[in-house]
Amino acid sequence: MGKVYFLDVTNRDGVQAARLEMSKFQRTMLNHYLGQLGIAQSEFGFPFIWAENNYIEANLDLKEMGVMGDLVLSGWCRAVSGDVEKALKHDRIRYLSLSIPTSDQMLSGKFRGRLDKDSLIQTMVDAVHTALDGGVDAVTVNAEDASRTDIGYLIRFAEAAKEAGAGRIRYCDTLGYESPDSIYRRIYALASEVGLAIETHCHNDLGMAVANSISAAQAAVAAGVDVYINTTVNGMGERAGNADLLSCILAIKFARGIADKLEFGQELDLSVAWKLAHYVADAFSLTLPINQVGVGDNAFAHESGIHADGMLKDRHNYELYDHGLLGRAQWSYKPTGRIITTGEFGGLTGLRYVYEQMGITFENDESALQILNLVQAANAHNHMQLTSDELRFIVDYPLQVHRLLTVTIPDPQELNGVRREEDMLQCPVDVAKVVTVGESVSLVEDALKKTPSQAWSPVS
Ligand SMILES: [Zn+2]
Repeated sequence: MGKVYFLDVTNRDGVQAARLEMSKFQRTMLNHYLGQLGIAQSEFGFPFIWAENNYIEANLDLKEMGVMGDLVLSGWCRAVSGDVEKALKHDRIRYLSLSIPTSDQMLSGKFRGRLDKDSLIQTMVDAVHTALDGGVDAVTVNAEDASRTDIGYLIRFAEAAKEAGAGRIRYCDTLGYESPDSIYRRIYALASEVGLAIETHCHNDLGMAVANSISAAQAAVAAGVDVYINTTVNGMGERAGNADLLSCILAIKFARGIADKLEFGQELDLSVAWKLAHYVADAFSLTLPINQVGVGDNAFAHESGIHADGMLKDRHNYELYDHGLLGRAQWSYKPTGRIITTGEFGGLTGLRYVYEQMGITFENDESALQILNLVQAANAHNHMQLTSDELRFIVDYPLQVHRLLTVTIPDPQELNGVRREEDMLQCPVDVAKVVTVGESVSLVEDALKKTPSQAWSPVS
C-alpha cells in the first residue's frame, strides 16, 4: 500500500506570491521547524536564481549538520535545460522539481505556437536528462495546469517523464479547478496507468484545496503508489493559496474513515504546529485568522451556553482533537511590561542580558561582539524583532547565518544576462515584471512593445 508524505512548498509557492515576503533567515527557520515537525521534504527555493545562492548553500550546510532533521531540501526549476544547468552549480542539491505547463490553454496562451505537444514533452525529457546526468539523485516532473490537461496527453507526458528517469509526477491543480470527485478519478487514472509516485499540488481558488488533496491522496494510494501532498504553512501561496499543511494532517488523522485508508510515511511531531503557524504568519506580517484550523485563537474557544456547558462536562462534546496535541501556548507569548531587547541598534550589555535570560553566556567580549554583529544584521535583514529561537540559532550556527545574511549581487554585466533571450522563447509573458536591485517589483505595461531582451533588462 502506498504511503502519504508531505512536501511543503511555502518557501517556493508562498514566498513567490504577491505581497508575501519572508527573509532568507526566516525561510531558513521555516526549514528548521519543518524538520522538527518531521515532514518529508521542503521545496526550499529557486537554485537557478542568483539572489538565492547564499541562502541555498547555507541551508545545504545546515542540512549536512543535521539541523533540518530528515527533511529533504529540493529546488524548483522550469523544465528547461538552461534553468537546470544553473541549478546544478549547487552540486549538493540532491533533488529537483522541474515544471512545465501541459494544458491546451497554456500551450496556446503562454507558448503561443513556440512549442507543440511533442516538442513540449521533448523539452521536459531533455531537462530531466540534464538534471540526472548532472548528478542529482532524483527528479519530480511538475505538470503545471494538469487539471485542465487532456488526461490522455497527461498520461503520455507522465510516461515520457518516467522513461526519462523522473521518480514522481506532480499533478498541479494550478487554478484550483478540481473538485474532490473529479481529482480522484483523474489521479486514479494517471497513477494506475503510469505507476509513478504522485505529488498533489492543489490551490484554493474555490476553497477546496485541502479536500482535493485528501481525495487525490486516496486515489493515488488506491492505485498502489506513494503520494506526496504539497502544502504550505497556513495555506499561504499564489492568489487564494494552497492546501494548508496542518489542515491536511488533521484531516487524515481525524476525518471520518480517512485514517483507515491513508498511512503516514513519516513520523510527525505536531507539538511544533502552533509555533510554526505563528512564526510564518509573523514573518509574512499577517495576523492568523481567528478561526484558522487548529492554531487560530478560536480553534478551542467556547462561550455560548450550550457549548460551554457541554465542554465542561466532556471536551469530546465539541472538540475532535485536543489543543495539547498542537503545542499551543496557554499564555501570551509576547511579554508586556518592562523588557530589554536586542537588535540592530543594540549594544553589548543589552545583548548579554537578553542571552543570559535564555541561559546563554559569552566567554569574552570578542565572542559577544561577533554575535552582536550578526544580531544587528539579522534584525536589519528581517526588519522585525528577533525571536528567542532566532537568537539561539545565531549562536548555534554563526557561520551559516553570516552566509544567509549576505547577498552577493552580480556585476551589472552579469545582471543583464539574468533573463536571456532563449528563456523568453520558452516562456513569453504578457506583462513583464522588472525587478530592481532593491527587490521591489513594478509592472511595466509597455514592456510588450519592446523586444524581449529589452523587456527583461533591469531598470534603474
Ligand atoms: Zn502552486
